[in-house]
Amino acid sequence: MFSGLKHIFRPLSIFYLLVVYIFASLIWWSYLLLDKNNQLHNTQLMVYEQQFYEQKGKNAGAFEETLVFQKLNSKKQRQNWMILGEGIVFLIILATGTIQIHRALRKEIMLNRQQRNFLLSITHELKSPLAGIKIALETIKGRILPEEKKELLTGNALADVERLGTLVDNLLMAAKIENESIQLASQELDVLALVKDIFRLYSNGLGKDHQMLLISNDPIYVSGDKMALMSIVSNLIENALKYSPKGTKIEVSALAIKQQFRFSVSDSGVGISEEDQKKIFDKFYRVGTEDRRKTKGTGLGLYIVHELVRKHGGNIQIDSEVGAGSTFILDIPLSKHSTNEEKASQNTQSSPQVKGAIS
Ligand code: ATP
Ligand code: MG
Repeated sequence: MFSGLKHIFRPLSIFYLLVVYIFASLIWWSYLLLDKNNQLHNTQLMVYEQQFYEQKGKNAGAFEETLVFQKLNSKKQRQNWMILGEGIVFLIILATGTIQIHRALRKEIMLNRQQRNFLLSITHELKSPLAGIKIALETIKGRILPEEKKELLTGNALADVERLGTLVDNLLMAAKIENESIQLASQELDVLALVKDIFRLYSNGLGKDHQMLLISNDPIYVSGDKMALMSIVSNLIENALKYSPKGTKIEVSALAIKQQFRFSVSDSGVGISEEDQKKIFDKFYRVGTEDRRKTKGTGLGLYIVHELVRKHGGNIQIDSEVGAGSTFILDIPLSKHSTNEEKASQNTQSSPQVKGAIS
């Protein structure tokens, strides 16, 4: 019972209660005013009618045809329209204000929830690699171990350090994007070579239990920031691996199409509902709640990807179905160098060719 009362008196409920009260009283007062106006009009009509017949006698004709009657009638109509008009304007302003406040409050609540989720996940993301490193170091320090065991422990500890490094990089990148202090270089890059390097790293590491496939064609040149492009490519590949079961296929493609660098990552994983597709590029947004999720993360990856793609003059789209998998497709304009090369190659071949497929 008390929890019900607590719910009723939550600030949002009080706000909605107040809005309903204002709407109801506005309609009630408008009705009362109209009614009073009509009553006043009828009383005036009675007085003038009485005066009319007293002055002119019973055979003076119909009072309804006199100028006084018509003037009183049009005055009543004008006043009724004024009351209605003012009521409607007030209602529109009130409704617009309520909708704006409702949206702002909901956004604030969502952000709060996401930040709480973020704090829970970041604590875990920081604690687990640190614990791993600590155990590895204590084991190496306290015992004389065979060389292979030592190798395994140091390898695991280094992987944990790598994980922490990526996390800190993502946090720094997000903070820089947030306060607009990020300075992106604009250098001519062979983006295909960059994709191939990252692809190789993942297919030998995190993605060794997936069937990873790379589709690419000739070198692709983009004028951009190397670190930012690396972050975009690795975040998308890492997500595909994180959110699809082992053994399934991950298809990465890097092609030059219509003067754009088209990069896509396709998986056959859990997929994303239409509702969540609208939110996954928001900062801290993760599908589901922190206590039910199996995969860990901070919800910053796609926010960073989206912002960096935008800063490179490109755009990102998603095609996904729950249970069937997801495809993230991004387009970034090619640099002039690449565009000229593409034009030259278009004179000799009509469509982009798939040159290499590494699996
Ligand atoms: P991190 O900051 O470590 O990347 P994260 O992976 O949870 O954490 P994002 O990369 O921003 O954060 O992704 C946001 C959410 O979108 C994820 O939590 C996940 O629910 C969903 N998502 C992203 N990529 C995929 C995918 N390929 N398949 C299914 N769901 C995905
Ligand atoms: Mg991610």
